[in-house]
Parts: sequence; structure tokens; C-alpha cells
Amino acid sequence: MNNSYTKPNILISRCIEFDNCRYNSQKISSDFVKKLNPYVNFIKVCPELEIGLGVPRNPIRVIENKEIIKLIQPETKKDVTNDMIRFSKKFLKNLEIDGAILKSKSPSCGIKDVKIYPTIEKSAPLRKSKGFFGSTVIEKYPLYAIEDEDRLRNHIIKEHFLRKIFLFASFRVIKDKKSIKKLINFHSINKFLIMSYNQKELKELGNITANNEKKSIKKVLEDYEIHLKLAFSKSPRCTSNINVLQHTFGYISKDLKSKEKNLFIKSINDFRKGHIGLSVPISLMKSWIIRFDQSYLSKQTYFSPYPDELVEVENINFCAARDYWK
Ligand code: SF4
Repeated sequence: MNNSYTKPNILISRCIEFDNCRYNSQKISSDFVKKLNPYVNFIKVCPELEIGLGVPRNPIRVIENKEIIKLIQPETKKDVTNDMIRFSKKFLKNLEIDGAILKSKSPSCGIKDVKIYPTIEKSAPLRKSKGFFGSTVIEKYPLYAIEDEDRLRNHIIKEHFLRKIFLFASFRVIKDKKSIKKLINFHSINKFLIMSYNQKELKELGNITANNEKKSIKKVLEDYEIHLKLAFSKSPRCTSNINVLQHTFGYISKDLKSKEKNLFIKSINDFRKGHIGLSVPISLMKSWIIRFDQSYLSKQTYFSPYPDELVEVENINFCAARDYWK
């Protein structure tokens, strides 16, 4: 199984675990961020500090009036819209990230559920949307793993996030190497992980890697990156995971006793019904891969998409989950 992982570059709101930079001089606690810290490169930012709002400070809010959206500090009536837009674009211009964890509901960092008010006076919100910095991040990095710390409390969202950031980080290294040989190997070891998300994109990625049209390595890598991100743009699929489990089981089953085969088939059926998590059939497969020294499957990232230390004990079941990315 894979033991070496490229550290993903993760943009993070500085007030999550790192700094008491919120308007009220507090910070947000996140067990997930604490756990993730040794395995990623966190790029910390507090956009409100960067545009010169001190700590503590009067809170700011998003105001929408006649379809014009502004970022205002109601107490002082200070309009920081342009400062925030200018800072966000400049800060993100050359930033290479694999994902982001931003503060939920913040008028600056929020990626959803940010209250939009009609006026600076006390009033009920009109609707909910994105914050100013958060929306620039989403625009600049479409299809990346961009989440807020609140959503990442959900085990399914967390699982998807971890798979994406470690996969995108390892692809970033391949991109830098500009080697078709390395791309072929990347595609080969990630085959079943990609298959568990999107079989159509897996086929497309296979065609891009084969490069029958003799495109330049630059173009091949650009095309591959687009389709890799498309493959992981939708939620993990229950049926695709079952398909991968059945497919990989074919490499092992001939060496198993019938009781072991039945145990595996039962675990797939229980997973399909939402009774158990994916970790049960995966653990069975992993034990047999080690027992039979199955070198092809042992290299497949599907069985260890991120460091074991980050694996949660909770049962992850894509079959019982709704689509949180709609
Ligand atoms: S939410 Fe963003 S702007 Fe607000 S304190 Fe946290 S990092 Fe700073």
C-alpha cells in the first residue's frame, strides 16, 4: 500500500485554529484541522486583517441594494468592498493550492450561507450566498476541494475532501515533472480511485494518456488536469464503488475459500444497503492484497487514498448519503 504522500497545499482562514484574528479576538477550534496539520502545508490568510481592519474590530456585513453588492462596516459606515476585491485578486494571483478550508458564514471567507442584508441598519437578511474572498477563491479554483470548517464536520464531505486534496497534490508533482512516463504511472495507480467516481472520465483520461494524436506534453497535462478535476467534481458514487470492489475482487477471488468469498459478497451487499461503511469491504481486500502479495492492487490508491493516520473510525457510506455538492 502507498506510504508516501505529497503534502497538499491548503489555503486556510487564519482564524481556524491558528490566530485570534476574528472581529471579537477569538479563534475557531477544529479537531480536523489539528489532525490534518502535520500532513499538509497550510497557507494561512485573514483577508480582513490584510485590508487593515484591526483586532478587535466592528463586524462587517454584505449589503445588497439595487443589485449592487458591497462589504460595509455598519458601525463606522466604512465601505471596504474595493479593498477586499483588490486584496483577494492580488493574493490569489500566483497561489498554487490543492484545496481550501475557509471559515463558514463569514462575509469575507464564507463559501455559502453568508447572510446578505438589504441595509446597514438592523434588518433581516435577504438571502444567503458567498463572502467576498470566498467567492474569489471559488472563481479562481473551480472544481478544487474548497470547503468550510463547518461542512467538514460531515464524514462524507471530509472523506471526499481528503481524497481530492491528496490526489490533486500528487498530480501537481506530475505536472511539474512534465514526463509522459510519470503521467502513465499516475494514471495506472489511480485507475480504480478514478473509476469509483466517474467511469466516463476514466476512459477520457485513458485516451489523453495514450496520446494517439501526438500532442505536446504541456497540452496532454493540461487536458488531463481538466478531466481529472471533472471526474472528482461530483459526489462519490455508491454503484461505482461497488463496481470497483467487484472488479478488484476478481484479482483475488480465485485464491480464496468459498466462506471468504461469501463474506466479501455479504459485505458488498451490506454496504449497498447502507448498513456498513466502505471501510469493511476495503479492509477485507487490503488483508488479501497483503496475504497474496498482489503487487498491482497494492499500488492502487483506491485502497489508501490518503495517510492512514487521517482515516476516521466512522463508517463512510456513499450509498446511504445524499449529494452534499449539489
Ligand atoms: S473569517 Fe476570514 S476574515 Fe474573518 S477572521 Fe477568519 S480569516 Fe479573518
